[in-house]
Amino acid sequence: MPKAIIVGAGLAGIASAIRLSIKGYEVAVYEANDYAGGKLSDFKQGDFRFDAGPSLFTMPQYVDELFELAGKNPKDDFEYEKLDTICKYFWDDKTTLTAFADVDKFATEVEENTKSDAKELKNFLKKSETIYDITHEVFLEKSLHLLNTYTNTNTAKSFLRFGEIDAFRTMAKANQSFFKDDKMVQYANRFATYNGSNPYKAPATLNIIPHLEQNFGAYFPKGGMYAITKSLVKLAEDLGVVFKYNIIVDDIVVEDKIVKGIKVKQQFIAADVVISNMDVYFTYKKLLKDQKQPQQILKQERSSSALIFYWGIKQEFKQLSLHNIFFSNNYKQEFEAIFKDESICNDPTVYVNISSKYHIEDAPKGCENWFTMVNVPNNTGQNWETLIAETRKNIIKKLNKNLEVDLENLIENESILDPRTIESKTSSFRGSLYGTSSNNQFAAFLRHANFSKQIKNLYFVGGSVHPGGGIPLALLSAKIVADMVKEH
Ligand code: FAD
Repeated sequence: MPKAIIVGAGLAGIASAIRLSIKGYEVAVYEANDYAGGKLSDFKQGDFRFDAGPSLFTMPQYVDELFELAGKNPKDDFEYEKLDTICKYFWDDKTTLTAFADVDKFATEVEENTKSDAKELKNFLKKSETIYDITHEVFLEKSLHLLNTYTNTNTAKSFLRFGEIDAFRTMAKANQSFFKDDKMVQYANRFATYNGSNPYKAPATLNIIPHLEQNFGAYFPKGGMYAITKSLVKLAEDLGVVFKYNIIVDDIVVEDKIVKGIKVKQQFIAADVVISNMDVYFTYKKLLKDQKQPQQILKQERSSSALIFYWGIKQEFKQLSLHNIFFSNNYKQEFEAIFKDESICNDPTVYVNISSKYHIEDAPKGCENWFTMVNVPNNTGQNWETLIAETRKNIIKKLNKNLEVDLENLIENESILDPRTIESKTSSFRGSLYGTSSNNQFAAFLRHANFSKQIKNLYFVGGSVHPGGGIPLALLSAKIVADMVKEH
């Protein structure tokens, strides 16, 4: 049986392991941490449970597909429910807006609470769907680095409609043309943060994202986000995949431009195929030090990072839902601070995720588990201690004002994740959440390919390579690689 080694048990690593195992490979996954999931992990804090990283689950079909490939019914091992309320939005002037999954209901909210109307929202979502229809097959589901992607008729049809994907103006510009109310422009611009980009720089093609959330739906896995990791690891193990934890891969061994295996503490382990789920930057800098480095790709701007306060809160808030956003009063300044000044503004947009709204076991009775996050620059050596202390104060001030509480007194326990710890825990270069940013029209073409052009049988998956960051795309990277690897 041919052997495949996967470096890293992030989501794309696990998905690759499942796919290669089904293709007839003996698969071993080497993981530096003592747990699987990378960014998608969880932890306990007193009587509270927290999902550490991702909180929004879209495109569950890419998880289901892995069970189906293995001949299983996904419903038996991995359940999730569709959210009726996708997100609640709050502004300091007390405007609130609930994004219901039901578009007509959401449109009524827009009409009642903003100066925009139902038609504006529906036109915006229609455009989002059109961009998805034109781009998803070429840009998300296939390698952009293989000739046969471009010789297929569907690709040709997509390229004929290139003008419709809105690549030549920024999201912010496009969204001003969709909505007359600035609050709705802010709502629409927010989707740039779903891959760590800046809406004032990113092409309006990123307006594809609301289609994934609003038209396909947002979901909550039974048991919380970590259930995705847990159920996929179990599926992989059932297929015979072996996970080796607490092992840092030191080298990818290459001879005559063919991958031969890996090295762990000077010990050589042979493999016919190696797939790196480690951030592509560190894969080259640490595991492929002696190989030619793709300089242009490695120096692309990185996505933003996050500062998260995990708070056990001694109160329940009926006005909050699973996903809640408290908008900044100056969105442009917020992104300038992140991407230009490499700092955090004094009035950042605050995201509060409360999984105990759906999974009550995550917090004791009468309490809630608050995952409180702001978007921040990636780590370039800022004075994080000062930035964290100031931002904590600013977040509390904003939430106090919006919710009319004294939050400090309600925080029972706290832990913090910042760009430095994201980097050290998951080996993400600079702690960026989504690999490279999409702050220009060429970003999709400047992500690293899913295979090595110089080294045979070496592949790359995960948020730092094509098609990009986020759970659905990381899972798709595994699919693209599996389609390239020889069947046995
Ligand atoms: P990663 O999670 O990056 O894991 C890589 C793994 O490789 C790690 O476990 C690491 O330890 C291991 N590794 C690295 N180097 C080595 C080595 N040399 N030897 C052995 N092991 C090694 N996405 C969404 O879809 N929705 C969200 O709401 C969302 N929110 C997010 C919030 C936060 C705070 C973060 C951090 C991310 C968020 N994301 C979100 C992004 C999402 O988490 C990732 O895109 C996704 O988990 C894909 O991860 P990956 O496969 O690239 O692997």
